Amino acid sequence: MRALRWHGPRDLRLEDVEDPGAPGPGEVRVAVEWCGICGTDVEEYTDGPLVIPTKPHPLTGLTPPMIIGHEVSGRVETVGSGVDLELGGLVALDGYLYCGTCRACRRHQVNLCERWAHIGMSYPGGLAERMVVPAAMAIPAASGIAGDHLALAEPCSVAVRALRRAELQPGERVAVIGAGTIGLAVLQVARTGGAGEIVVVDPIASRREVAGSLGADAVVDRLDRLAAEPGDFDIVVDCSGASSVPNAAMELTRPGGRILLVGFPPHPGTLDYKTLLLKELSLIASVGHVYDEDFATAVRLLCSGRIDAAPLISHRIPLERAVSEGIERLAGPGRAQALKILVRPGD
Ligand SMILES: [Zn+2]
Ligand SMILES: [Zn+2]
Repeated sequence: MRALRWHGPRDLRLEDVEDPGAPGPGEVRVAVEWCGICGTDVEEYTDGPLVIPTKPHPLTGLTPPMIIGHEVSGRVETVGSGVDLELGGLVALDGYLYCGTCRACRRHQVNLCERWAHIGMSYPGGLAERMVVPAAMAIPAASGIAGDHLALAEPCSVAVRALRRAELQPGERVAVIGAGTIGLAVLQVARTGGAGEIVVVDPIASRREVAGSLGADAVVDRLDRLAAEPGDFDIVVDCSGASSVPNAAMELTRPGGRILLVGFPPHPGTLDYKTLLLKELSLIASVGHVYDEDFATAVRLLCSGRIDAAPLISHRIPLERAVSEGIERLAGPGRAQALKILVRPGD
């Protein structure tokens, strides 16, 4: 089958690789319909290996070359013994592999497994025609949703977990910093979760427009424009990962409020502990998602239309153009005109 494999930084190759074969007990084989390109894929391309292992992964034993891609929707082709999934049914893949026995796994925090692996990083991913994965990872669509929309389940599940961790209450005022795919998903999950008012901050005009069309009560281009009314927000969500944002967020958050860290920070920063303490703020981090709590919820929100995936998708391209028109675009200035780029690995 055809697959896009990471060999090293700036070295992604479209190759003919061995078919994943028949699923074993508890596994499912999925024909990939759509796979989204994530910022993580772009970072592995420009600066990797970051999460891609350099020595045999402790759970999967795998090393590069690695098939990338982790935002997958596809059709069930065949199932191994003990698997109850409808053949031909549309599924989204949660993506985490975990050991099931470590301290985190015993607490059902499988996203924090001491040996966690992930499709597209330490296990063959979705920029390929087919995958064999643990069946618990495959969450069936609950409606006639289109496969391209369902491919947004992974980023949406990040938003679901984040707002679950922040314990969003009905009526609360929320600021969302960064209106990429995750920020726009946080906006929609916060709305469906009963937020009273949501303000979105992003320097890119087209993203602010999408945020407005998805129900943001206000959009601004810069954080300091929000700072005119400091201390107003119950929750400030950082989807940007910029190391300057947490301190700026402390100004915006009401005393006793929460700062929710979702964006991946490429560089360490310095925290303003004094403000954190004097305002008795909670600093909450959220990473990834758990298949039954967060991912299944994201699939239901998408299938019921409470999250609208359509405005989050900017491009749909075939596998042979995934690097030139997908990853290269997101690594360069073309990024400003792109949201989620979806790749179709099959015909
Ligand atoms: Zn991702
Ligand atoms: Zn574990």
